[in-house]
Amino acid sequence: MSRLPIPREISTAAGIRVWSADHRAAGRRVGFVPTMGYLHEGHLRLVDAARAVSDVVVMSIFVNPLQFGPGEDLARYPRDLPRDRELAASRGVDALFLPDAAMMYPPGSETRVTPGPAADRWEGEVRPGHFAGVLTVVAKLFHLVMPDVAVFGQKDAQQAALIRAMVRDLDWPIALVVAPTAREEDGLALSSRNGYLSAAERAEAVGLSRALRAAHDLWRRGETEAARLEAAARVTLQMFPAVRPEYIAVVEPDALAPAVSAGAGCLMVIAARVGSTRLIDNVIFGEGVP
Ligand code: AMP
Repeated sequence: MSRLPIPREISTAAGIRVWSADHRAAGRRVGFVPTMGYLHEGHLRLVDAARAVSDVVVMSIFVNPLQFGPGEDLARYPRDLPRDRELAASRGVDALFLPDAAMMYPPGSETRVTPGPAADRWEGEVRPGHFAGVLTVVAKLFHLVMPDVAVFGQKDAQQAALIRAMVRDLDWPIALVVAPTAREEDGLALSSRNGYLSAAERAEAVGLSRALRAAHDLWRRGETEAARLEAAARVTLQMFPAVRPEYIAVVEPDALAPAVSAGAGCLMVIAARVGSTRLIDNVIFGEGVP
């Protein structure tokens, strides 16, 4: 079996700028996959999607303190660089960008990107400041990497929508690709946080995707009224008593504003706690079922 080369590892601003500039000067398209590490198949599919539209792929691994609120899981967020290295190599990542917090946010670093009002609902309502943290780190990473194309996951639909808005509003010449959500066989969306779940919680966590599937099945049978689709999802969730929903909503595609009626391309978004773990998921009406 042929072994792919080990990705180049870069941890300085100057290093990533030179790496990227050299490739662009040679006429290669640079694809970028930002992550917080503890890689799973979902992250690796983003690499595949980046590779399909670029000549070289750089993945960043950085657990961004700015997007965690007080009392969230920053300190215990899972990390395993040796394993991430292997996985990235197995999928042909050309470079790993591994900045640290001191480099990204040196003392005195205080400028933040303010998202539009679409950041105040759903995840933003439960996690105040989260999306300002996300957009700030993505803005910095974009300026350091200067990619031609960047790939994000549909799993974090609101994040993808806000990044798309930022790139549009700030006129960045970066193409965005949003790749479909990778799932376990039973439907649970892959997440670095799934490892927090006990065996019993893991069994119940499938309730999120089951609820989305129930709503999507009803939609395929012709129901478009948001309230009824949401009710179908809630009824299904009742079969999973350990899953405590925070929100379940039918939303419009771009700004994720609540929708009264679900046309094709609208989404159902869900967030729930299973034990102490917070999980999110979504489905796009008219696209594959979870
Ligand atoms: P994270 O490391 O959780 O910050 O995620 C990094 C990127 O991977 C983001 O663009 C996520 O949306 C994406 N991602 C996370 N989980 C999945 C998944 N199950 N399927 C596809 N993309 C994912």
